[in-house]
Amino acid sequence: MHRSRSRASEANWQQALAEACRDPGELLQQLGLDPRLADLPASVCRDFPLRVPQSFIARMRPGDPDDPLLRQVLPLASEARAVPGYVADPLAERSAARGPGLLQKYRGRALLIVTAACAVHCRYCFRRAFPYQQQRASGRQAQAVLAELRADASIEEIILSGGDPLSLSDARLGWWLTELQRLPQLRRLRIHTRLPVVLPSRVTAELLAMIAACRRPLVIVLHVNHAQELDTATITALRRLRSSGATLLNQAVLLAGVNDSVAALCELSERLFAAGVLPYYLHLLDPVAGAAHFELPLARAQALMGEVAARLPGYLVPRLVREIPGAAAKTSVEFAVHKAGPSHNQNRVT
Ligand SMILES: *Cc1c(COP(=O)(O)O)cnc(C)c1O
Ligand code: SF4
Repeated sequence: MHRSRSRASEANWQQALAEACRDPGELLQQLGLDPRLADLPASVCRDFPLRVPQSFIARMRPGDPDDPLLRQVLPLASEARAVPGYVADPLAERSAARGPGLLQKYRGRALLIVTAACAVHCRYCFRRAFPYQQQRASGRQAQAVLAELRADASIEEIILSGGDPLSLSDARLGWWLTELQRLPQLRRLRIHTRLPVVLPSRVTAELLAMIAACRRPLVIVLHVNHAQELDTATITALRRLRSSGATLLNQAVLLAGVNDSVAALCELSERLFAAGVLPYYLHLLDPVAGAAHFELPLARAQALMGEVAARLPGYLVPRLVREIPGAAAKTSVEFAVHKAGPSHNQNRVT
């Protein structure tokens, strides 16, 4: 691969990131919607501004204020309202920090916050108020994190997270992969990212080559909430990632007004599988301040999953989980599987 060509493709996605839409009024206008919908308190715009690249906007249905992709990214005035139980750090991540940029909650797995940047700002994000500037393994802190990992033989899996680790340049990402693979105890590497979905041009030949060169099994956990996110370009990008040797899993968040129907959840699993991705987790919403409008009653979540599990093969049914601060793992949420005949449509939860 020619260096000049790989630089050009890197410049491409970086430019698309830089040109992401940041103005709610502009986004609404582009979709033919009333810009007054974006009449927002200053605090909402300042603390966690809108951010969404054109490639994602292109998958939204014009003229539909309830579009499931638009709902994930559009700031609302109601975010500024205090709702009991909704807090800045719902998962107590600040107390799971082992040092700047290094979080450990679970045995054998450590999570590195390698960047604060994301390609898209998801309104329900549990890290929307995370103090990234202090909690980031960049510059000199990266060396401190590596030193800490070298000294801890119990850590067998490293998760690159953020922010979105694929918003790093290929050179920086490559540096991390190389350094981490020098750890003798490392058995698996993981990348948690939404970038290949939001901006498929991020899946460059250089990135694919880097993945193919990994000497440890690499798992890429994507984040797709709705089948409509998986357009042709995205499916192609995901298949390429898979062909480069990575295991692809998906985690989604169950969100009112986005994917809270049996049809939406089934179609998501089907389309993910067609793109070479297995459903992994379906998270219940974390109660982060500003996200209360996405909440679904627990009983409703269980009823939906009961119906999904009655329709799909087991490998297409994600685990319904919630995160309880201090627990030893993500906690499974049980549900009863609805007993309907193979092709019955009665008692359908839609
Ligand atoms: C969710 C999470 C993990 C990964 O958990 P798995 O169940 O292995 O996917 C690891 N570290 C932190 C801090 C997490 O929040
Ligand atoms: S891409 Fe992930 S980390 Fe970034 S805002 Fe969305 S949910 Fe949060």
